[in-house]
Amino acid sequence: MPWFKKTKKPKPVRSERPRSKVPEGLWVKCEGCKEVIYSKELERSAKICPKCGYHFRIDAMERISSLLDEGYEELYDDIRPADPLAFKDTKAYRDRLKAYQRKLDLYDGLFVLKGSVEKSPVILAVMNYQFMGGSMGSVVGEKITLAAEAALEQQRPLIIVSASGGARMQEGILSLMQMGKISAALAKLRRAHLPYISILTDPTTGGVTASFAMLGDLNIAEPGALIGFAGPRVIEQTIRQSLPEGFQRSEFLLAKGFLDMVVPRTEMKSTVARCLRHLAA
Ligand SMILES: [Zn+2]
Repeated sequence: MPWFKKTKKPKPVRSERPRSKVPEGLWVKCEGCKEVIYSKELERSAKICPKCGYHFRIDAMERISSLLDEGYEELYDDIRPADPLAFKDTKAYRDRLKAYQRKLDLYDGLFVLKGSVEKSPVILAVMNYQFMGGSMGSVVGEKITLAAEAALEQQRPLIIVSASGGARMQEGILSLMQMGKISAALAKLRRAHLPYISILTDPTTGGVTASFAMLGDLNIAEPGALIGFAGPRVIEQTIRQSLPEGFQRSEFLLAKGFLDMVVPRTEMKSTVARCLRHLAA
């Protein structure tokens, strides 16, 4: 009888070794090429995959600092949402709002800023996808309208960065009315010959696409962004046809004439600045 038994357990290969020693979030898997990227490397490359160019989503604050020069000022940060319909689905809208407000320390999903892009003065509005999927309710509508009015008053071009799932269902018809309200404010800018640049990022859908995101004097998108009205599954079910490859992505929309440019994130600021100089001339 042997004194011991030798198990024939194979030596663990690299990927099977316990992963607990690797701090969480150190590596990120790319949605585009499925490669694993060192998260520090991703931070350094403006959250663009260094292997395939896939643009990871960035938050509103990162967006603002990627576009504006230092020394900007936030406007209208005191506007809070109300719940006039006392709406309730699986959760009361009021509670849903409170949860987001607490988590993100914000009243609602949009930032308006007064600043400059390579020294060209602008009014910038940036949608915050983290706040209820960047949905457009009355506060978003009001703040964009105020941003357009500030642009008019101060004779500055307006830039809006969209990232949104569309209208905010919990505000019913009130959210849809924002489309008309914002469009009317943008028409005033047009009459005053003040440029409006729309930047569409992943994702820009629903009522946002159907109104101000597509109304820019220039409509510029980030590469690979999902841009559309209804989602591809809904469209497929409705028309009973399969959709072409790359449908509702920036490059497809550019080819079909819906966009003016597709610009990588690293070149967005310089491109916008160049366009502003041209439009001002
Ligand atoms: Zn990649």
